[in-house]
Amino acid sequence: MQRYLWQQADGKRHVYDTTRHRIQAEHSFTALCGETVIPRTERGDLTAGLWFDGECPVCTIALAKALGWPVRELADLAHRFTWSPELLARLAEILHCTSGEVAELTGARTVDT
Ligand SMILES: [Zn+2]
Repeated sequence: MQRYLWQQADGKRHVYDTTRHRIQAEHSFTALCGETVIPRTERGDLTAGLWFDGECPVCTIALAKALGWPVRELADLAHRFTWSPELLARLAEILHCTSGEVAELTGARTVDT
C-alpha cells in the first residue's frame, strides 16, 4: 500500500498518512495539512468517482515535499493555488518555514494584518 493516499472530506481532497490512519466513514482523521476532517458516506466521500472537491493546497504541497520533490517543482506546484493568509500560515507551520519563505514558494503577496 502507498504510504500517502488522498481522501475527500469536509469539502476538500486531503492527503493522509496510511501508517497513522485507516479511513472509515464518520471517523475523523488528521490530514497532512494538520486539519482534522471527517469523511461522510452521504456526500460520497468514500465512493470512487464522486470526488469533485478541489485538492487541499497545503496537503498537496506537504505530499510533494514528503515525496522528495525539489524546491523548484514545489514552487511551480504551489503557484497553481490561491493562498489565503490562513493557508499560508498553515503551510509555513507544516513546512517549518518562515512566512517570507512560504510567500516566496507560493508566489503569494504578503498580506499585511
Ligand atoms: Zn489538507
